[in-house]
Amino acid sequence: MSICRFREELQNLISGEILVNEPMSLHTTWRIGGPADLMLIPEDIEDCWAAIKLAKKYGIPYLVMGNGSNLLVKDRGIRGLVIKMAAGEVKVDEEQNLIFAPAGTLLPVVARVAADHALSGLEFAVGIPASVGGAIVMNAGAHGKSIGEVVKEVNVLDSDGELLVLPGRDLDFRYRYSNILQKNFIVTKAVFLLARAPAVEIKKRMTEFLEKRRQLQPVGKPNAGSVFKNPAGTSAGRLIDAAGCKGLTVGDAQVSEKHANFILNLDSATAHDVLTLIEQVKNAVYKKFNVMLELEVQVVGE
Ligand SMILES: Cc1cc2nc3c(=O)[nH]c(=O)nc-3n(C[C@H](O)[C@H](O)[C@H](O)COP(=O)(O)OP(=O)(O)OC[C@H]3O[C@@H](n4cnc5c(N)ncnc54)[C@H](O)[C@@H]3O)c2cc1C
Repeated sequence: MSICRFREELQNLISGEILVNEPMSLHTTWRIGGPADLMLIPEDIEDCWAAIKLAKKYGIPYLVMGNGSNLLVKDRGIRGLVIKMAAGEVKVDEEQNLIFAPAGTLLPVVARVAADHALSGLEFAVGIPASVGGAIVMNAGAHGKSIGEVVKEVNVLDSDGELLVLPGRDLDFRYRYSNILQKNFIVTKAVFLLARAPAVEIKKRMTEFLEKRRQLQPVGKPNAGSVFKNPAGTSAGRLIDAAGCKGLTVGDAQVSEKHANFILNLDSATAHDVLTLIEQVKNAVYKKFNVMLELEVQVVGE
């Protein structure tokens, strides 16, 4: 089955939009990545499942993504189908302190809706440019909190097209990990259980967190946040800095002078530049500290 025939057949089954040869650099915060053969922005869960069913039938590979803030897409792009989860309306149950958010909605949007309704627990997320789905997959966190702590339940589509509602405790949340990818689930919606607090206090905390980010993290050049996971008991940024890697540059990719665990795209960095720089940083840290850094960002494509 050619990708063109696949696309035609898929278009007849769904109501969402299909983009052809879509540059992934438009969909990653690093602004890096070659084209995806096809990108579907699904209108609803039915679109998602129709696309996956058809892709499985014809052996077309597929990848689900959120806001692309943790993805390094290689320069030749992605063969097959990328499903980019769309944003949707955030709903609030004020009596039960619950927030309902579609997977493609941005986490800072959800955090602000929560604050407007005097619901506390998502303040830490106000500066994380993740989608709800991507944040749950990665158990995104900051300022000593992570998303797993406030997830009441998650709606997922399993690989048989079954829609499951899973309690948060079933997702095995750990440091930058949940079992979503391992189980091949697609997150479609999340329900957060928050706590009542005065809106002014919540918003004040959010402003403080944003200010802290501005002080400690680089702004203005495309990046993907922390490139490496923190090794147990220490910070990757500290090790990279102490190994003398701040400012190290390959092509247009540069280790940030402000926060050594960030790699910046100075202008037209390629994935190859970033991957070469990653290897150099890993080697320098290993040589100095005998610690092998592990990637937090996910490398996809070819
Ligand atoms: C400036 C900046 C600051 C950052 N700060 C932080 C921070 O403080 N803390 C932190 O933890 N992270 C941080 N990050 C990293 C990033 O935002 C998180 O890893 C985030 O969880 C990724 O979400 P996403 O929607 O962008 O996912 P993507 O990058 O699109 O995808 C990440 C993974 O999740 C999968 N996925 C995405 N959506 C779904 C879905 N609906 N169902 C199934 N699988 C899915 C993808 O296949 C991929 O494997 C930062 C990034 C940037 C650019």
